[in-house]
Amino acid sequence: MTTQGALTGSRYRESLRDGREVWLDGKRIDDVTTHPAFKGTVDRFAELYDMQHNDVMTFVSPETGNRVSKSYLLPRTYEQLKEKYANSQAWMRNSWGQLGRSPDYMANITVGLYDFAPELGEFGPNAVAYHRYCMENDLALTHAIGDPQIDRSKTPLDDPDLALRIVEERADGIVVRGAKQLATLAPYSHEVFCYLSASFARRGASEFVIWFALPMNTPGLKTVCREPLGDHTHGHSHPFARLYDEQDAMLFFEDVFVPRERIFLLHDGELAMRGLGRITPWASYSSHVRFQERMKTALGVAARCADAIGVSGFRNIQEMLGEMTAIVELSRLLTVATEAQHKVTPAGLVQPVGSTAIGYFSAMSSGRVADLLRKITASGLLMQPSEGDLESAELRPLLDRYMRGKDIGAAEKSRLFRMAWDLVGGGFGQRQELYEYLHRGDPSRNLINLYLRYDRGEVDERIGKLISAPIPQ
Ligand SMILES: Cc1cc2nc3c(=O)[nH]c(=O)nc-3n(C[C@H](O)[C@H](O)[C@H](O)COP(=O)(O)OP(=O)(O)OC[C@H]3O[C@@H](n4cnc5c(N)ncnc54)[C@H](O)[C@@H]3O)c2cc1C
Repeated sequence: MTTQGALTGSRYRESLRDGREVWLDGKRIDDVTTHPAFKGTVDRFAELYDMQHNDVMTFVSPETGNRVSKSYLLPRTYEQLKEKYANSQAWMRNSWGQLGRSPDYMANITVGLYDFAPELGEFGPNAVAYHRYCMENDLALTHAIGDPQIDRSKTPLDDPDLALRIVEERADGIVVRGAKQLATLAPYSHEVFCYLSASFARRGASEFVIWFALPMNTPGLKTVCREPLGDHTHGHSHPFARLYDEQDAMLFFEDVFVPRERIFLLHDGELAMRGLGRITPWASYSSHVRFQERMKTALGVAARCADAIGVSGFRNIQEMLGEMTAIVELSRLLTVATEAQHKVTPAGLVQPVGSTAIGYFSAMSSGRVADLLRKITASGLLMQPSEGDLESAELRPLLDRYMRGKDIGAAEKSRLFRMAWDLVGGGFGQRQELYEYLHRGDPSRNLINLYLRYDRGEVDERIGKLISAPIPQ
C-alpha cells in the first residue's frame, strides 16, 4: 500500500477529481472543487486538512511511519481517548460546530468497525484492513443507512425498491441495486460506508442485510445532491452557509459491484442489529464534542448580538442567555460523563459510554437555543444591509447613521447578525436544525427504545413494597 498519511489541502482537492458522478439540479458536475455550489466547502475542508499537521491532530503510524489523523487512532488507554477528544475539538472548534459529518465522525465509525471485527467472522479481516486503509490514506467517508422514503407502511418484501439489495452473488463479490436516503458529505467524501437500516434487519429478508464500503467514483454509483444552501447569487455573504454546507445526497446504485474484500457483513440481520450499536460509540463521542461547540457558537453570537443592540443589560435577556449557557455547560458535562464512564471492549479499545438520552437532550436543546436566539435578536435577525449596500456611496451614510448598533458600526453589526441568521434562519439554519433533530435516527423510536431498555427494577421493587400494605399509622 503506497500511502502519504494525513491529507493536505492540495491533496484533498486533487483526490476529489476522480471521475465521480455527482449531480446537481439535473446536471452532472465535472469538478466539485471548482463548481460555485461546492467550492466554498471544498476550500474550507482544504484549510482544515492543512491545519491538522500538528501533534494534537496527528500521530505516527506504527505501520508506515507516516503521520496520520488521530480521528483514526484506536484508543487503548484513557489518555488516548482524551487525545481523540482534543483532536475532535480542534476539528469542531475550527468549523464552529457546523459540520455534523466532518471526516472525524466517520473515521470514528471505522474505529468501531475495527472493534467489532472479531464478531464479523470471515469478514472480520476486511474490517480491520479497511480501518487501516482509511487511516493510512486519511479518507473522508460518508455513510448511508436510511432507505428511500417511498412507503414506510410496506417492507422490501412487498416492493424490493424500498431498500438497497443484493441482486447477484459471485465468488469475487456481490452486485447491489437500489438507493439510500441520505448521505451527508457525499460529494466531498472519498468513500461511502453503507449499512442497513435497523427496521429492515429485523424482518429477516437476508438479501437486504449488507455492510460494505466503496469509493465514490465506483461505476454505477450516482450522487444526487439537494439544493445548495450557501448564498451564491448575491453579496450577502452568509459565513456559515457559504463555508459549511456539507451537502446531503441521495445515492443511487445501478447494479454496482462490491468486491469481496469490501464486504463487512452479509445476510445476518441479528448480527447487523447488534453491530449498529457497537460501531457508533466513538463517533457519538465526536458528535457530542461538535454539539458542544455548536451550542457555544450560538451563545457567543447571541451575547454579541445582545450587546450590539443594547439589550444585554435587561434581566429577561440575561435570563435567556443564562439558559443558553446552561445548555452549553450541560453539553460539556455530558461529554465528560461519557468519557468518565469509559470501558474496555473485548478487542481492547477504550470506549466512551454514552446514552440515547444525550441525543434526546441535544435534539431538544438545539431547538430551544434557536428559539432563544430568535427572541434575543428579533427583527435584526433579517433586517441588515448587504455587502453591496455597504459599498454604495449613496446608501452608506444612511446605513452608518441608522443601521449602526451600540458601540458597533453598520458593517460589523450586519456581519454579526448574518451569523445569527445562519444559525437559526434561512435554508442553512433550518437544515442544521433538522440535522440536529434527526441525525441519530428517528427520535421517536430512540425514545421508545430508551424507555423499554431502561432498567427500572430497583425503583419498581421499592414502589411495589410501598404499595403492598397501608402506611403504618
Ligand atoms: C440533515 C440530515 C442529515 C442526515 N444525514 C444522514 C447520513 O449522513 N446518513 C444516513 O444514513 N442518514 C442521514 N440522515 C437520515 C436520518 O437518519 C433520518 O432522517 C432519520 O433516521 C429518520 O428517517 P426518515 O427521515 O427516513 O423518516 P421516516 O422514517 O420516513 O419517518 C417519517 C415519520 O414517520 C414516522 N414513522 C416512520 N416509520 C414508522 C413506523 N414504522 N411506525 C411509526 N412511525 C413511523 C417517524 O417517526 C417520522 O415521524 C440525515 C437526515 C437529515 C435530516
